[in-house]
Amino acid sequence: MSRYQKQQPDANGFFGTYGGAFIPPQLEPHFKEIAAAYDRLSISAEFQNELRYIRKHFQGRPTPVSYARRLSDECGGARIYLKREDLNHSGAHKLNHCMAEALLAKHMGKTKLIAETGAGQHGVALATAAAYFGMDCEIHMGEVDIAKEHPNVVRMKLLGAQVVPVSFGAKTLKEAVDSAFISYLEQADHAIYAIGSVVGPHPFPKMVRDFQKIVGEEARAQFLELVDELPDIVTACVGGGSNAMGIFMGFIDDEGVELRGVEPLGTGTKLGQHAATMSYGTDGMIHGFKCLLLQDEKGEPAPVHSLASGLDYPGVGPEHCFLKKIGRATYDGADDKQALDAFYVLSRLEGIIPALESAHAVAYAMRIAPDLPGKTILVNLSGRGDKDIDYVTETFGYGETP
Ligand SMILES: *Cc1c(COP(=O)(O)O)cnc(C)c1O
Repeated sequence: MSRYQKQQPDANGFFGTYGGAFIPPQLEPHFKEIAAAYDRLSISAEFQNELRYIRKHFQGRPTPVSYARRLSDECGGARIYLKREDLNHSGAHKLNHCMAEALLAKHMGKTKLIAETGAGQHGVALATAAAYFGMDCEIHMGEVDIAKEHPNVVRMKLLGAQVVPVSFGAKTLKEAVDSAFISYLEQADHAIYAIGSVVGPHPFPKMVRDFQKIVGEEARAQFLELVDELPDIVTACVGGGSNAMGIFMGFIDDEGVELRGVEPLGTGTKLGQHAATMSYGTDGMIHGFKCLLLQDEKGEPAPVHSLASGLDYPGVGPEHCFLKKIGRATYDGADDKQALDAFYVLSRLEGIIPALESAHAVAYAMRIAPDLPGKTILVNLSGRGDKDIDYVTETFGYGETP
């Protein structure tokens, strides 16, 4: 375990002033139970061995690090490398924490996984884990999202999950969270709530970070093998922040390696036009934890926008807020147009169709590379873009060959 990892968060789940667990009293015992189970299992050789087996023989880990030669030549300047989470089973990094959360649930004697999903990516990853372990799976999803994200709804059902339509309020992610929590309260004796990023009440930000850390550990060793030195810059897109925390953790004690998060700048700088929480947010509270938050005057989470629905969250993982505050990581952004451009360019130049979320990190690397000759940039390519191809081509066409 790294020096940093031992120190953060504190026993109550605080990263400095961010994080914690601000939940209704009825939920407190359940989150304490999860935290205690995780403390026990995280140091259990049996648990770690099972996780290692699953990662290797089911998920297909380690995923490779690829040198993006044609992209680097096209940009000029820094050499760009990709950590290929698009090759993780089910096509993104999310399965890393979903498999581990399901394994934790199994060790706790639970038989059911409950969660909400927005675009359906977390729901699909969790349904995959539930099928693997033979557990029940209940996914709450707003009716608006169900209509928009049809293929993921089909996937979840094929994987054996029950999709619960949420028909109140705006019928999207926030209501799905409320609905899932209510359902969890009724079933907490045999179910676990499986959060989809490094967000939510303690212990989830810590746990999901630890489960995603495999990305950074692999990437560090692979990069050293391939390049013979550490990267100068490690970058990843930030929605809730799990894929970024995963790759950052591999380099957190390497002071010479710069960690840079990339947020969705959307279509403009006004509230509602972006989801750039680290850039524009102020201290607040959402879903039971303290973080930087895009909020209105009343402290309610503001509407957010990004071309990538997986980045569309008004809060952000508390650890990112902490890393920004202590200066260990910095945060910048890419807008919808830059991300779309990177989506086309990576497809044409490297034969890799990236998720629109990941395309934000690629866009950022493309933007800074020309000014950094002789340097190296490692991008976490968090997922593949198959889920986005219909939306992109129907809305924007096929792009131009660079
Ligand atoms: C969900 C998702 C993200 C955003 O989530 P983080 O917790 O910020 O990593 C990024 N990339 C892909 C491919 C996703 O599915």
